[in-house]
Amino acid sequence: MMIEIDSLSKSYNGVRALKGINLKVESGEIFGLLGPNGAGKTTTIRLLTGQLRPDSGGAKIFSRDVFQEREEILKNLGVVPEETNLYERLTILQNLKFFCRLYQVDYARIEEYLEMVGLLAEQDRQVKNLSRGMKQKVLLIRALLHDPEVLFLDEPTSGLDPGSASVIHRILQDLNREGMTVLLTSHNMEEVDKLCHRVAFLNQGQLVEQGIPRDLKLRHSRQQIRIVYQDQEKIREELLDIQGKESAEFIADLITEGRLQAIHSQEPTLADIFVEITGRELD
Ligand code: ATP
Repeated sequence: MMIEIDSLSKSYNGVRALKGINLKVESGEIFGLLGPNGAGKTTTIRLLTGQLRPDSGGAKIFSRDVFQEREEILKNLGVVPEETNLYERLTILQNLKFFCRLYQVDYARIEEYLEMVGLLAEQDRQVKNLSRGMKQKVLLIRALLHDPEVLFLDEPTSGLDPGSASVIHRILQDLNREGMTVLLTSHNMEEVDKLCHRVAFLNQGQLVEQGIPRDLKLRHSRQQIRIVYQDQEKIREELLDIQGKESAEFIADLITEGRLQAIHSQEPTLADIFVEITGRELD
């Protein structure tokens, strides 16, 4: 097990942000932590990266105690935070070199990574003049320079254009194929569906659902299909149960009579499940 969270709780001045969550992330997984604003996702990441101390409960990464062995863990952990915390007046290259010195890694990979995200030609620009997407890419590179085994990303693509987001997706998938474990938070359910092997939904500080996206969709499925068919001069639509002889006979008749126009799966998307279990619309 790469990450183990055990009954973790955290309050801020009486506001209970996390109410005793338990979670396990296996080595080699891309794991998505999902939930509405204020659910406790960032708090979880801050606790796991040792930036906060819990009220109670514990967490381990690499089987090491997050709150006792933070320094050791951070050597092998990359973090892309929600808030950009780059040095705004330094250039991209200066920021990355600074980080290399901090972690005592050489500069060798900077160029390779800048090339990978398409920022090589921009390396001498000051961070304060970069777009949000460019800053996000610099944060990602910074998180990778010391070649961590585990990567945490808090909203890695929020506010990015689809092209920039897909560059980040591709990089995460490549890194994962090479063995990196990834824990990310996101409000983008399409992104999560595409990237994550498993997901957990957090709502008001509690984990309310977790599993493989495909299994969650089956679990939350209403087991229906929507059929579109010709009825004399009209086109009609109907929801049918997928279990049941009646549906089978009805569809068979429509096919025989050449009246069936289309069959649509009513499988819920992760966004539908999100709304169902959190009772909150996505932003
Ligand atoms: P978002 O999707 O908006 O980023 P989140 O799931 O990351 O939300 P958190 O930032 O973990 O949510 O916040 C969880 C709860 O804790 C919220 O009620 C928030 O208002 C509260 N909270 C977070 N940080 C602080 C803080 N520094 N002081 C007081 N309350 C805080």
